[in-house]
Amino acid sequence: MSFAKLGLSEALSKAVADLGYQKPTSIQTKAIPVILQGQDLIAAAQTGTGKTASFVLPILEKLQRGKTQKKKRVRALILVPTRELAIQVAEKVKEYGQFTELTSLAMYGGVDEKAQKQALIDGVDVLVATPGRLLDMYGQRAVYFEEIEMLVLDEADRMLDMGFIESINKIIDRVPTDAQCLLFSATLSHKVRDLAKTAVNDPYEISIAANQASKSNIEQWLITVDKDMKSALLSHLIKENQWDQALIFIETKHGAAKLVSQLEKREIAAEAFHSGRSQEVRTRLLEDFKNGKIKYLVATGVAARGIDIEELSRVVNYDLPFPADEYVHRIGRTGRANASGEAISFVSKDNFKNLCMIESRLGHLIERREVEGFQPRKPVPISILNYVPKHKRQKEEQENQDK
Ligand code: AMP
Repeated sequence: MSFAKLGLSEALSKAVADLGYQKPTSIQTKAIPVILQGQDLIAAAQTGTGKTASFVLPILEKLQRGKTQKKKRVRALILVPTRELAIQVAEKVKEYGQFTELTSLAMYGGVDEKAQKQALIDGVDVLVATPGRLLDMYGQRAVYFEEIEMLVLDEADRMLDMGFIESINKIIDRVPTDAQCLLFSATLSHKVRDLAKTAVNDPYEISIAANQASKSNIEQWLITVDKDMKSALLSHLIKENQWDQALIFIETKHGAAKLVSQLEKREIAAEAFHSGRSQEVRTRLLEDFKNGKIKYLVATGVAARGIDIEELSRVVNYDLPFPADEYVHRIGRTGRANASGEAISFVSKDNFKNLCMIESRLGHLIERREVEGFQPRKPVPISILNYVPKHKRQKEEQENQDK
């Protein structure tokens, strides 16, 4: 199957060929024809599956065929949860649309709004925006929604987790009812389905099987280690294995800063990437990490989405994420589009329940390894697959009794 056979014009097929894409991924083969036909869609697809191209390509195709934009109007609106993802998706729109006349813009908070307002004056074909800043601009009459032909809710589960439900509903209410709506989410939870009911109309549903959530080209394992030995273990692994690059996830901003200084003491240069740093700094850090100037980036969860680095070879969960879906997003930062990668988690005894939830979500246990000299003094218990937390177990028992 080629991109042209999916119904994409020469301008778009050429752009993807130039990027080195040889054939469409599974989600692209499924979604592109449906979107081109004008149908609404809900898709369960993880990041790393090529989902961005699966909606950006048909959007560009359809917009190319239609009328041009008007002042302060937008023709396709892509809503995303974070600034990083907004930048990332907008970059893809530019890359895929490079041989078209279509215009695009990324709009997100944390930066001066003047330039974004200015860019909106003549209207844009594709606007990629975070909900808060978009509503701000809407309130200031810098942008109008009545010409919107296509609306995408990208990483819908994440937007809900981040508390954007009210903003999203406000936006949906203002978008024309006949606009084509596409919803993408890593998981189709009840909350996401409820949102879908208000947004999409008689949708076509695509699901990239849950077991593909942990992609087979990512080698995953965990190292059991005491909490107070984690930073020494990380330094040891970096030096011993001569890691070329690692994206290291940690729970808190403070923890990130502390770990960076602990690494420095061991002569390992790393940088902290979290919401306490300005947007400008974060953009620069990502750039430097992508081009290899920074080898080790210590990031809080905010960075989990939106980082798209070709050939990122390694992700380390210094702290295990919560909830379990976050694990899938994090490890999805490596092994992208069929490249191979490794995801290593540091697990101490107090992470045990969290580990069980992650393994239940994955549907399999994660291979355990110990590192010589770092064997834990407090052993991590044997995992329980299909683990149900106590409060849920009690609730289920209660419900069964009530029946
Ligand atoms: P996404 O799931 O949209 O975050 O995409 C993950 C990565 O896969 C991005 O770096 C894309 O550039 C890349 N990609 C998307 N589609 C293809 C394809 N058909 N062939 C090869 N790489 C792709």
